[in-house]
Amino acid sequence: MRLAGRAVEFNNTRRANHFMRQELVRRFYEKHPYLKRVWVSLTKLRFETRQSGIPAFRPMHGSPHPDHLLEIMPDSLGELLLKSDMKIWPAGGMPGESSRTKGKGVGISSLGVHDLYHEFGHYIWNNILTPEQRRGYSSLVGAHDEKRIFENMELDRNNSTDEHFARNVQNAVMLRPLELAKHQEGQTRALLDYLASIGVLDAKHRAHFDAKLGDNRAFLADAIEKIQKINDIVKPQNPVFYDEAGKILQFIRNRRRGERLKYAE
Ligand SMILES: [Zn+2]
Repeated sequence: MRLAGRAVEFNNTRRANHFMRQELVRRFYEKHPYLKRVWVSLTKLRFETRQSGIPAFRPMHGSPHPDHLLEIMPDSLGELLLKSDMKIWPAGGMPGESSRTKGKGVGISSLGVHDLYHEFGHYIWNNILTPEQRRGYSSLVGAHDEKRIFENMELDRNNSTDEHFARNVQNAVMLRPLELAKHQEGQTRALLDYLASIGVLDAKHRAHFDAKLGDNRAFLADAIEKIQKINDIVKPQNPVFYDEAGKILQFIRNRRRGERLKYAE
């Protein structure tokens, strides 16, 4: 009897977790219908360009599926963005124009949602963080100030603290090592604390991050050339592609299952 009671409790917990996650994804799509639309148009592109007749589930540009990205999203980040007045719409101008965030508008490229978390990072930096929080970030990662990473160098994409923050939001959510401009003792933990304090990470996602990366939780990009390489358009390392999103989602799903099993014992 005792066992049966536990099994019921176990199943209810499982359903509740699943429901909460689906609810967050549903609310996100409801508020930002363009996310669904961009995927449908990408799938169509792929069907038109393939000759084999084999059904293709991937877009031709390797975009991650927005369903996958939203299921990966930490609850705290979802809530933070849902209560904001962020808007997601097509990146204007020419077809294939890259994703960009301007003011409250997150513009998504017609090529896909590779940069979604990067753009969320820009939105948070420009619309949610206080000047003090931006300064706090800059000193944590070893940037010169909240505009420039390296002093006495031109303010461009590679030297921008705003871009640095956007990359790190994407790194944190996608369970990639965090980027630091200088190394100081205890800095990675302090940066993770910071990201949790502003809602980018929550305790659950931070545990996924630690489990996935172990001691490899940060890397040093302490010269403009190293950052240039990360931002390189020819060999992009920064965007998220379909396979990576699928793998990270599977990793997180497995851990969620593990949590439930631990709970049921
Ligand atoms: Zn950017």
